[in-house]
Amino acid sequence: MRSAATPRRSVTVRVPAKINLELIVGPRRADGFHHLATVFHAVGLHDDVTVEAADDWGVTVNGPYASLVPADGTNLAMRAARLLASAAGVDEPVHITIDKDIPVSGGMAGGSADAAGTLMACDALWDVGSSKAALEEMGAELGSDVPFALTGGTAMGSGRGDRLAPVLGRGHYHWVLALSDSGLSTPKIYAELDRMRANGRVPKLVPSASMMTALRSGDAASLGRALNNDLQPAALSLQPRLEEVLRTGMEIGALGGIVSGSGPTVAFLVPDNERGLDLAVALTASGVSPAVKRAVGPVRGAHIVTGPVAPRSS
Ligand code: ATP
Repeated sequence: MRSAATPRRSVTVRVPAKINLELIVGPRRADGFHHLATVFHAVGLHDDVTVEAADDWGVTVNGPYASLVPADGTNLAMRAARLLASAAGVDEPVHITIDKDIPVSGGMAGGSADAAGTLMACDALWDVGSSKAALEEMGAELGSDVPFALTGGTAMGSGRGDRLAPVLGRGHYHWVLALSDSGLSTPKIYAELDRMRANGRVPKLVPSASMMTALRSGDAASLGRALNNDLQPAALSLQPRLEEVLRTGMEIGALGGIVSGSGPTVAFLVPDNERGLDLAVALTASGVSPAVKRAVGPVRGAHIVTGPVAPRSS
């Protein structure tokens, strides 16, 4: 064990939300997860995770979603800190502060983002020096989306979404995110999909050619047409009002619209910033969505914004 004599200091890591540009869901695996083929896309909606040496382990969540997030040992950020401490043989408690801007249970992997941010922040605070690959491996133990939160950009995910490969893509895209005031539970969405698919065919686990072509070209209109999420019918089945959100956004002029991951956030693609502002205003005025945010993607994955050292790139 390392000594606890480290001077008091803190590290803050900024970490993005994700949407899935394409999400193909295969059969359920023996471990209960589903086989996936997905295209992750990190968008500019962030949580900031600060870790600070402390006498006891603890977590504080700030922001409008704080009441929806556990402030105890079940918080994914706390689990991440303890996992790294145990793997690295560190015995230095930290207090974790999460400034949360990513909606909770919104299908944007906010909990995974916090776990990723905490791994990177603690690694720096404790001077562990893990490679990015080692952090990703540890992250996969905490949740399927954690490795992507570390990587960011646009990437293909296979396995249960935790095995990443780069995607050749160009351009930046403007998104309008229609939030919901009631979350959707990821396990319930997968269970609903299994129910709807009973005896049905399961798709081949490869991203579509149209998605890959759209990303290579950087053409937003093509990307809008290629958006695809196998979980969307299950999300619409459990929250039918999402259909109206999707219809309204498309009528107002989005290039494409999709339920993000397991929902209920709906992501609309627009041609530029100005059209994004127009859509955000019109969606808000229509009353179909209680809150609307705008974000650009892709953005970088978890990165230190204040603190002593950055981890080595693998
Ligand atoms: P995904 O897209 O990966 O399915 P999500 O965005 O739909 O995830 P999260 O916001 O990650 O959902 O939260 C899912 C559950 O995890 C909630 O019940 C929440 O209370 C719990 N949770 C635990 N730790 C955290 C955290 N640090 N931030 C957010 N939620 C957390």
